Amino acid sequence: MQETLLTTQPYIKVALPVPMRRTFDYKVPKAIAVRHILQPGMRVKVPFGKSQRIGIIESLVSESDWDDAQIKPLSALLDDAPVLDTEILSICEWAARYYHHPIGEVLFHALPVLLRKGESADFRTETWWFPSETGLKTPLDELKRAPRQVEFLKAVQQHENGLSQQVVSTLGLAPAAGKSLEEKGLVYREQRQFLKMAETHAHQKQVPPTLNDEQQIATDHIIHNTGTFHVSLLDGITGSGKTEVFLRVIDKLIKEDKQVLVMVPEIGLTPQTLKRFENRLDTDIVLMHSNMTDRERLDAWLLCRQGHAKVIIGTRSAVFMPIKNLGMIIIDEEHDASYKQQDGFRYHARDLAIKQAQSANAPVLLASATPSFESLNNARQQKFAWLKLRKRAGSAQMPTIERVDLRGQTLVHGLSEYTLETMKQCLARKEQVLVFLNRRGFAPTLMCHECGWIAACDHCDVNMTVHRKANKLHCHHCDHHKALIFECPECHSRELFTVGEGTEQVEAALIPLFKDTPILRIDRDSTQRKSALTQITQKIHEHDQAILVGTQMLAKGHHFPNVTLVVVMDADAGLFSADFRGMERTAQLITQVSGRAGRASKPGQVLLQTYHPDHEAIECLCERSYEEFALEGLQERADLALPPFYHQIIVRAESADEWEATQFLTHLREMLMPYCEAGIGFVGPYSAIIVRKAGQHRALLSIKSPKRGNLHRLAAIASQWLEQESRSRKIRFAIDVDPLETY
Ligand code: ADP
Ligand code: ZN
Ligand code: ZN
Repeated sequence: MQETLLTTQPYIKVALPVPMRRTFDYKVPKAIAVRHILQPGMRVKVPFGKSQRIGIIESLVSESDWDDAQIKPLSALLDDAPVLDTEILSICEWAARYYHHPIGEVLFHALPVLLRKGESADFRTETWWFPSETGLKTPLDELKRAPRQVEFLKAVQQHENGLSQQVVSTLGLAPAAGKSLEEKGLVYREQRQFLKMAETHAHQKQVPPTLNDEQQIATDHIIHNTGTFHVSLLDGITGSGKTEVFLRVIDKLIKEDKQVLVMVPEIGLTPQTLKRFENRLDTDIVLMHSNMTDRERLDAWLLCRQGHAKVIIGTRSAVFMPIKNLGMIIIDEEHDASYKQQDGFRYHARDLAIKQAQSANAPVLLASATPSFESLNNARQQKFAWLKLRKRAGSAQMPTIERVDLRGQTLVHGLSEYTLETMKQCLARKEQVLVFLNRRGFAPTLMCHECGWIAACDHCDVNMTVHRKANKLHCHHCDHHKALIFECPECHSRELFTVGEGTEQVEAALIPLFKDTPILRIDRDSTQRKSALTQITQKIHEHDQAILVGTQMLAKGHHFPNVTLVVVMDADAGLFSADFRGMERTAQLITQVSGRAGRASKPGQVLLQTYHPDHEAIECLCERSYEEFALEGLQERADLALPPFYHQIIVRAESADEWEATQFLTHLREMLMPYCEAGIGFVGPYSAIIVRKAGQHRALLSIKSPKRGNLHRLAAIASQWLEQESRSRKIRFAIDVDPLETY
C-alpha cells in the first residue's frame, strides 16, 4: 500500500493560508512516505518563500504541472490522522468555490486557532493521584513526622477514584509530599485526558410542560422526519415556545446517540441557552464561541470530533465543528445578520449548515419569530416545511402595540410625556420597563453653538460619538478615539453641545426621574467584561420593578418574565435606509424587541415612538403581523427584481486614493463585458454610503442575475482578474456572494 502510494501519488497539493486561489505542489520525501500514509486533511509543514508554513493536504496526485526539479519536498508531517475529515473538506471546497474565496483561507478558518498554529490535535493530559493497595491500608499515624504527607495521604485515601492535579492544588496539598509517598509505594500517578464539559448531569432535571397543539404538531412533524435531509422553518411568534420544541427533538435524538448542533446568533445568548438545556437534558453539552480561550475551543472541538459532546451550542463558526454522528442542525433566530461573516471569508452559516446537513443526510431546523425573506420564500415554495406557531405558550398573551406620535411633542431626552407616564404606571405595578434605543454612547454628535463645527472622525466620513462616562469621542466605524473636548477647535468657543441621544444619556436622564428604581443599561459598553451580561441579567431577575435601557443586545432571544412594557424610542431608525433590506431589518428588530413584553402571565404593552405613524411598515406591524409585512415585502422584491428572486454578488474595493477604487471596478466591469451571458446586470461602481472608512475610500460593483450559474461563472473570471490586478495596484478587494449589506 505504502509503496503504491509512493509510486503513483508522489505529489501532494497543499492549501496554505494565503490570499491566493490555488494550492501548492510538494514532494513527499521517501523517509516520510515509507512510514506514513498521507491523506487529505492532514497538516504538513512546508517551505514557502523564505519561511516555513503550516498547510493542509488537499489531495494526493501522481503528476504535477510543474517540473519535478522545481518542486520542493515537504518538511514535516504534523498529523497521524486528518484534522479535517472528508465531510468538512468537501464543505470547505464547496464554500471556496461558491464564495470565490481562497481554499487555504477557508480550510484554516474551519480549524481551531491552536491547530492552525501547529498544536497537536490531542486532548490535554493531566496528572491524577491514586492510593496504592498498601497506601489505602496504611494508618496515618505511621507518617506523623511528615505532616504534609499525612495530609496528602489522607486526601488520597478519601478519594479512591483519584485526585486530579487541579483538585490537589485547590486543596492546597504539596506535590512534593505526593512524590515522597510515591517513593514509599503508598500512592501512584497516572496521566489522564483532561475533559471539560458543562456539568450537566449533576442537575435535577425539570419536568417538561405539556405541549400545546401547535407545538405538538411541529414536534411530531420534525421527529417523524429525522434521519433524512430536509429543512423545516419553525416560524413561531415571540414566546410561542420554539425552544421547548427544540428540547423535545434534541431529547429524542440524543437517546439515539446522535449529535445535535444548535446555532445561536450571539455569544450573549449561549449561557442562557446552555442553562435551559442543562436543566432539561441529561447529556454532555459543549459550547463554541469567540469568548472562549483558544485552548477551550480546541477542547470543545476534540470532544465534538470524538463524539463525546452530544449537544454543541455555538455561534457562526460552530458550523465547522467536526460532528461524527450528526442528528440535526438547529439554527435559532435564523434571520440574524450575525450568521453572515462580514469580512474576509464572507460565508453565511445558515447556508453552509444546510449544505453540511445535506451531505450528512440529516435534517435542519430553522427557527425565528421574524424569518428572513429568503427562508420565507423557500417555505412558500415548499422547499422548506413551514411550521407555524401563532399562539404564545402557556398563559402568556401577545402584547398590544401602540404608536406614540412624536410630531409637535416636547421630549425629555427623547421620551414623550405619554411614554414617561406609562412607564410610571408600569413601575407602580412593580413590573419592569424595557427602553430600546439602538445607539450606544451619550450622543451621536458633538457640535459648536457658535460656528457649527461638528466632531468628525479623522479617518472616516462620520461623526464621532460622545461617551461621557469614559470622557471620550469614539468612532464606531474604525474604533478611533480621543479625549472629549470642551472647546471648539475652529472658533475656540466653549459652547459645545450634543445632538441626539444614546443609551448612556437615556440612562443618565432616567436616574433622577425614577429615583427608587434600579436602572440597568445593556449595550456593548456596559457588557465589556466577560461576565457582565450574566450579572446584569441576574439583577433583572432579582428585582421586581426596574428599567432596562439597551440596544439590540436586549432584543435577541432574552426571556425577562417581569417586563410588561417595551418602549421603542426611535421606531423610525432604519425606515428610510438606502439598503433594500433596511425595512426587513427594521421590522425584525421592532418585532423582536416588542416580543420581550408580557412573556409570562402578565399582559404586555409596547409603545413605538415615531414621527411617521402612518408609514406603511409601522402600520402593518402594529395592526397586522410580521408575516403579512414580509409577504408584501417579498412581492415588492419580486417586482423590483431583487433577492431572493435575483441572485447578487457585490465586489468591494478599497483604496487610499479617492478615485482608484472606483476606477478599478470600472475596469473590472469592462473586462467582464464580453463574458456576460443573458440576464446579467450591473449596478455601479458606486460609492459606499460612508465613503471613507479607516482611511480607505470604498466603492462597490453589484452584479445580478436571475440564474446562479451564469453569475458564478462570471464571478470566477472576476476573481482571477481581481487577485492579479489588486496586487499591482495596491487595492484591497472582497467578493461578497449573497451580500446582506449593499452599501
Ligand atoms: P420562544 O423560544 O418561542 O421565544 P420559549 O420556548 O422561550 O419561546 O417559551 C416561552 C416561555 O413559555 C418559556 O418560559 C417556556 O418555558 C414557556 N413554555 C413553552 N412551552 C410551554 C407549554 N407548552 N406550556 C407552558 N409553558 C410553556
Ligand atoms: Zn466653533
Ligand atoms: Zn473612524
